[in-house]
Amino acid sequence: MQKVFFPLFHALAMLSLAASGSSEQRTARYFESIRNSPSQQMAFLLKVPKGGDLHSHLSGAVYAESMIQWAADKGMCVNTAMVASPPPCDSTAGQVQAKTAFSNSVLYRQMINAWSMRAWEYSGQTGHDHFFDTFGKFGAANSGETGKMLAEVAARAARGHVSYLELMLTPEGLSMQLGKKIGWDSNFVETLRALESHGIYDAVTAGTQSIKTAEAQKDSILKCGTTQADAGCSVTIRYLYQVLREFAPGQVFAQITTGFLMAEDTTSKVVGLNLVQAEDGVNSMKNFSLHMHMLDYLRVIYSKAHISLHAGELAPGLVPPEGMTFHIRESVLIGHAERIGHGIDIMHESQPYDLLKEMAKRNVMVEICLTSNDVILGVRKEQHPLNTYMQYHVPVALATDDEGVSRSEMSMEYLKATQDQGLGYVQLKEMARNSLVHAFVSDGEKMRLEKKLEEDFREFEMGY
Ligand SMILES: [Zn+2]
Repeated sequence: MQKVFFPLFHALAMLSLAASGSSEQRTARYFESIRNSPSQQMAFLLKVPKGGDLHSHLSGAVYAESMIQWAADKGMCVNTAMVASPPPCDSTAGQVQAKTAFSNSVLYRQMINAWSMRAWEYSGQTGHDHFFDTFGKFGAANSGETGKMLAEVAARAARGHVSYLELMLTPEGLSMQLGKKIGWDSNFVETLRALESHGIYDAVTAGTQSIKTAEAQKDSILKCGTTQADAGCSVTIRYLYQVLREFAPGQVFAQITTGFLMAEDTTSKVVGLNLVQAEDGVNSMKNFSLHMHMLDYLRVIYSKAHISLHAGELAPGLVPPEGMTFHIRESVLIGHAERIGHGIDIMHESQPYDLLKEMAKRNVMVEICLTSNDVILGVRKEQHPLNTYMQYHVPVALATDDEGVSRSEMSMEYLKATQDQGLGYVQLKEMARNSLVHAFVSDGEKMRLEKKLEEDFREFEMGY
């Protein structure tokens, strides 16, 4: 008898909850009721307050259509491999003017496909290779366009109810030249001294100035401070200095030092640093531990910078199995990572359960980039460790990681989290909150953003 009564009791309890539940519960129930309709869920998710996007490389966050326009405006050329370059165009080498794309729909189509993950399955390349190769193709087009890039991503963030962006960018090239000149002899102390006496502070000044100039351009494009201001003006933006880890150790050390120095200035919007470029690349793999020790050494000297690290963006077969056993652990224990980007290969690490518990204990957040992991690594659905992280109470938040190249945006990441990972509204809300809790912005600004997020959630849930 009990077996008959219990479900009945349960159903009645649910009914009474439906009538009296909190606005959050009502919203969560509505969200579940449309679970079988991804299109309706998308309409819902476009309006959900999302907090911050903590993993976004500015150069990959812009859509190809914008970069084609900028290439055309600068009179640039594009060759048969869709690589953009400055004029003059050499027709004997197969180059045509980029502006030809506006009157040649085949070229326009080809450029978009080559400069993004659109239709990558037909490119003849793996997702991984196609993705990383896009940067070399469109690089010249977005060179010098940082202000326009900021305007585009800020406006898109505002439309998707993202209130905070932590953008990765490399704001200067001087440190790279210095690092090349000084080289690397494994002596941390002497190399730092040489950088200081050969002008590393000029790199800091150049980086700070280039960000200021780009922000002024962004504000002008979005008409910030006027009555016609775009909603993107209200998006808070901070920066992570992105170190290119595929370069020689001396250059990586010089860039890491510049990142730390830029974050030392409390008025700077550079709040930390991150090491970027393909983790399976030859130098990334060979020098991974060395890079962690560079961070460890400089961390003691410069205390202000926050650190987030790409680690575990690897899948079986991409590198030898031994290469998947220590990157996340070393990033947390030696590299002082407060956040991990991707963390896909966590269960291949030595003693993964201990590591998960350690990350939970240290409150190290994982930036979850579902579209990126799907197209670059082929890791999706139940292969993705998102649910494992959640099971072990490691904080997680969704991020776009190159929304332009991946042809994505934050709301689409939320849709993937619910459709492919089975997450419900309350879990998505928790991740939005996490994105601000683990943001590297100052405490005062963080409090303001968190308060605003709660207000936005209250208002959003009133509609259900
Ligand atoms: Zn990334």
